[in-house]
Amino acid sequence: MAAMGLLAPNGRATGEVRFAGANLLTARESELNAIRGNTLAMVFQDPMTSLTPHMKVGRQLTEVLQRHRGLGKAAARDQAIAMLRRVQIPEPERRFVMYPHELSGGLRQRVMIAMALLCGPRLIIADEPTTALDVTVQAQILDLIRLARDETGTSIILITHDLGVVAGLADRVAVMYAGRIVETGEVRRIFKTPQHPYTQGLLACTPRLDDAATAALRTIPGQPPNLQRLPPGCAYHPRCPYVMDRCRTNRPALLPAAVGGMKACFLDDLHLKAAS
Ligand code: SF4
Repeated sequence: MAAMGLLAPNGRATGEVRFAGANLLTARESELNAIRGNTLAMVFQDPMTSLTPHMKVGRQLTEVLQRHRGLGKAAARDQAIAMLRRVQIPEPERRFVMYPHELSGGLRQRVMIAMALLCGPRLIIADEPTTALDVTVQAQILDLIRLARDETGTSIILITHDLGVVAGLADRVAVMYAGRIVETGEVRRIFKTPQHPYTQGLLACTPRLDDAATAALRTIPGQPPNLQRLPPGCAYHPRCPYVMDRCRTNRPALLPAAVGGMKACFLDDLHLKAAS
């Protein structure tokens, strides 16, 4: 939300968000309006609340094309319907004149993806795009995102809690805990040799089909921290099996890890320690 300039009035963002030569955090509203929905698009978590409920689907799509591409009404309509067809919405002409509440959750999310793709963005931020959907529709939407990426070359920042989705879609991963990145790296490396205890904990909690009959579901002990009162030092220290004295007072910086990628942890060679 900070990157898109959509934080609530009481929200604050510090640092920089650099995109296409601009710092989005300090960009003027007019600059942001030229970027949003154009070179930078977003697919929100819940399409029911992110589509405008009193506007027909078609108008929400054509508005993007008229505003950012300067198309006339008829050309925008043709392109919007073509895009609905491309994201595999059946009977796109009929859906074009419907309101969001007349569509299923899966179709609404397809409309959101169509809207994001309309102007050929360089980057799409997809925030838990499948959370509100049932499992079958989730798989269809993920296929669609994969297809869109492969066809258009658009980069995607995918925000998700689902490690299966990460494994299936991502090239590079940033694992976050308590609002900070604790580990980054290439997806295969993260799954094979996670370097941060939190990443290890997450992966250990993933249910496996081959031990489902015998193993209880695992969890990471303790509770996620209150973000308004983070513990001092490493935010993960109250839950970390490797906690050391300095972890309780000093916050580890995100630094290059020996096996590639980066990690924010005082431990060295965690994968060796974990394996021993
Ligand atoms: S810095 Fe310390 S508490 Fe934090 S993850 Fe590493 S070992 Fe655990």
